[in-house]
Amino acid sequence: MISIAHTDISDGSGPLSEQLDASWGEVLSLIQPQINSQSFKTWFEPIKPVRYENGELMVNVPSQFFFEWLEEHYHGLVAGALQKVFGRSVKVTYNVTPVDEPLPSVVVSAAEIGQKANEALQARIEPAESVRPLEYDKTNLNRRYTFANFIKGESNQLARAAAMAVANNPGGTSFNPLVLYGGTGLGKTHLMQAIGNYALEHGKAKRVMYISSEKFTIEFIDAIRGDRTNEFSNFYRSMDILIVDDIQFFSGKEKTQDSFFHTFNSLHQLGKQIILSSDRPPKELQGLDDRLISRFQWGLTADIQPPDLETRTAILRKKCEDESVNIPDQVLDFVAANVTSNVRELEGCYTSLLFKASLEGKEVDIDLAREVLRSIVNDVKSPLSVEEIQRIVSEFYDLPSDLLRAKTRKQEVVIARQVAMYLAKELTNCSLKTIGLNFGGRDHSTVIHAYQTVEEQLKIDPKFRTSMEQVRRKIEILSR
Ligand code: ADP
Ligand code: MG
Repeated sequence: MISIAHTDISDGSGPLSEQLDASWGEVLSLIQPQINSQSFKTWFEPIKPVRYENGELMVNVPSQFFFEWLEEHYHGLVAGALQKVFGRSVKVTYNVTPVDEPLPSVVVSAAEIGQKANEALQARIEPAESVRPLEYDKTNLNRRYTFANFIKGESNQLARAAAMAVANNPGGTSFNPLVLYGGTGLGKTHLMQAIGNYALEHGKAKRVMYISSEKFTIEFIDAIRGDRTNEFSNFYRSMDILIVDDIQFFSGKEKTQDSFFHTFNSLHQLGKQIILSSDRPPKELQGLDDRLISRFQWGLTADIQPPDLETRTAILRKKCEDESVNIPDQVLDFVAANVTSNVRELEGCYTSLLFKASLEGKEVDIDLAREVLRSIVNDVKSPLSVEEIQRIVSEFYDLPSDLLRAKTRKQEVVIARQVAMYLAKELTNCSLKTIGLNFGGRDHSTVIHAYQTVEEQLKIDPKFRTSMEQVRRKIEILSR
């Protein structure tokens, strides 16, 4: 059991606390060999034990996201080490030491908040004109990119957490440089700029610069032509945070790389933050000087993967919310199920959908969404529901469809039910849990069992295979 406190607790002192420090040291020494040194340094060194009493340990951590990260990734590890050292199971209370203002996206889980909460948040983090740093206009940052409107998902979890840590303490974490990599349209630019925006708004940095590697290259060449290379270097070396996007385009540009190498070194030495993005992991960058690649690996390299269905849906919901647009959930789910690879494409689809609706004076419904999707996605999957599958399967087996949801264990019903569960798993994006619920509130393990049974049967029984193909075809025809 873990709980979290927000009270202001000062470190204890005296013999008891020395004993606690020693015990905590033992806990750390058990944890350290089990994870890589970067993770240890990042997530465990900053933890401070405060007090231990009757199987309850209170520790200070620097932020809530820190606590969330520990809980999500190291819960078992910590619990095991504590058990060994204290000889019993230990309940940990995390105390967030209020050194820094919490990050907005930690306090507010962006996907869940309503429009109002978001507005209030924006108002809070937007400083008055007079206190805005002078350099703001020259940062190249787009203020649209914030943490608050970056949807958290499994696909971007580490990148987002690291970005938030860096934003809160630029140059002060071991994430220097922070390198984000991943395919196009997955949110690299958004996250990098969110760091810059957050750091400026919260006074964590004064001089922030966002630049693409292409623009950096052009400016560098201009500087050479105009005999201003010193000025150029001095400018970039004066930053608190330097953000360089799409560094793969440095490839083959040796002089520019050389200049960037020196800029990198001097910023790093001064403890300034460097943030880079690339379309692939640094070690796979071709046409880049090895010296540079090795430096890119000094800090943290975090990938962003294509978002899963849940995240895609949340991104669309958030857009609707922010723009006060009303699109039925069913349509959002349909779009999210079909646009799978890229957030930019997802947003493009959303925009086209609204555009088409207003242009043609139509409702935003599944049919319109299907039209829009056809121009973007090759094979538009129908928004099949579990009920529809049940209807078609029971028709095929000539059974009333409510029997599939009923308790009966008659052999022919059991088979039809298993087939329907199997197809629901194959053809919809519903979770096992949801599928189970749709079959008269059955458990997800029942769905797994059905799935495995059908799979086995398909392997050994050609007749069953044929009938399965017939049902599938029927579903395909009837649901389009
Ligand atoms: P990249 O730089 O990786 O090519 P971008 O940062 O330009 O991708 O993202 C493409 C679009 O998708 C942007 O409009 C961005 O705001 C949006 N986007 C990407 N990921 C998310 C996310 N997790 N939540 C909300 N919007 C996102
Ligand atoms: Mg980009």
